[in-house]
Amino acid sequence: MPQDSVRIEHRYLELPDAFYTRVAPTPLRDAKLVCFNQSLAAEMGFHTANPAQWTGIGAGTELLAGMDPVAMKYTGHQFGAYNPELGDGRGLLLWETLGPDGRRWDWHLKGAGTTPYSRFGDGRAVLRSTIREYLCSEAMAALGIPTTRALFMVSAKDPVRRESLETAATLVRVAQTHIRFGHFEFAAYHQGEDALKALLEHTIRYHFPHLLALPDEQRNRRWLEEVVTRTATLIAQWQVVGFCHGVMNSDNMSIIGDTFDYGPFAFLDDFDAGHICNHTDQGGRYAYNRQPHIGYINCQYLARALMPILPEEDIRQALELYGDAYNSHFLDSMRAKLGLAEDDASDIDLTMALFALLHTHKVDYTLFFRNLSNLAGNGDAPVRDLFVDREAADVWLARYRARLTKETRSAEAREAAMRAVNPKYVLRNYLAQLVIQEAQNGDYGPLEELLKVLAQPFAEQPEFERYAAPPPDWGKHLNISCSS
Ligand code: AMP
Ligand code: MG
Repeated sequence: MPQDSVRIEHRYLELPDAFYTRVAPTPLRDAKLVCFNQSLAAEMGFHTANPAQWTGIGAGTELLAGMDPVAMKYTGHQFGAYNPELGDGRGLLLWETLGPDGRRWDWHLKGAGTTPYSRFGDGRAVLRSTIREYLCSEAMAALGIPTTRALFMVSAKDPVRRESLETAATLVRVAQTHIRFGHFEFAAYHQGEDALKALLEHTIRYHFPHLLALPDEQRNRRWLEEVVTRTATLIAQWQVVGFCHGVMNSDNMSIIGDTFDYGPFAFLDDFDAGHICNHTDQGGRYAYNRQPHIGYINCQYLARALMPILPEEDIRQALELYGDAYNSHFLDSMRAKLGLAEDDASDIDLTMALFALLHTHKVDYTLFFRNLSNLAGNGDAPVRDLFVDREAADVWLARYRARLTKETRSAEAREAAMRAVNPKYVLRNYLAQLVIQEAQNGDYGPLEELLKVLAQPFAEQPEFERYAAPPPDWGKHLNISCSS
């Protein structure tokens, strides 16, 4: 199955024993391979001619030579409270492979049965949540947002009890690494300085190798600066595309800055700055407009764990980078979304006025920017028509048009550039819900079709125009179950 050019490694096992427990997957019954990511598998250096041969791996009935499944141990802050009991409660790290291009891939089988870290859980993942994670990680990748990826998924008949009775599935999720902020919290608070140092050295050696050339005293500081900057940039990317993660606990924060652990996430439909996509998050800790701040708090949790081995001044300086990294990425991206190639001091006000407008009038976030990218030859109608109160739109549009007079690009060139950053197709919750229902009835065709559409979010795809539509009434306020 792997091509000759693939190297098999399992570097995570080089960490001290406390960081993992060997666990065999608990087999699923009557498993069927339902999605296989051909292009990703090829990129990773795997033969793709016969995807069905992966069914046993997904079902937990088969392992390839070199696979040595372990549950990773980590802890973390959940909703602001420290929980020492965490770890892979239903997922196993199978092995790490290096593809033909030298890129490192960690294989994680999610839904593989109980582990010593399962607490009260059953170790399973349901079909519904597995499809949501598959869809969203691939949608994010196509949008150019760092994310874990979905390699393949299997569906089985085993019943799994959530709010109602559902069926089990597994996902083989791949990423350069599954090391989380919570790994560092575990090391610092339970294993002591040597383990913390070992984890940091491991992380830099395999996942930040470009820092190895730096002198010792600079390397760790530069690493933390990079983690903080990547985290700030990632969250700016979420805000810009209207993505709400929903469970930004520090055990769900990837050390390399990937979007990680898809649960009750949502892409905003009608813009609501305070949108809470996680129904168990009653206080709105992880609401859309709080994500940038929570990203910073998570960096503080990470920084605090590093106190025993990094000078306080280095930590302080690294944390200070968060604000600028966030703001500059956010503003640059908003300029691009608005088609503004020149820098103008008024751009931040124009952007903030726009967010206030979209919030007050509950306008569809994705459609607004896409339609704004198609004004040439259409007047203001594509944007105005999204508002019930069209005059409110006119006020902002007049300001926008005035700002555009400072631009030198032609309208056509500007709007072509805008369409390359303002997606037409995002994973709206109702779209996911529709394909989940079909899949639960045994038809995976709609899921495959949606995946195909989301793989080209910026392209016009006339035959799939319907996937760009805002939600119908039934799909507006879906109560997406957080249990997964
Ligand atoms: P999450 O909210 O998905 O990030 O999960 C938080 C913690 O609960 C992690 O340690 C998971 O491994 C664990 N967990 C979540 N769901 C289950 C489950 N069904 N069985 C066992 N552990 C779980
Ligand atoms: Mg998690």
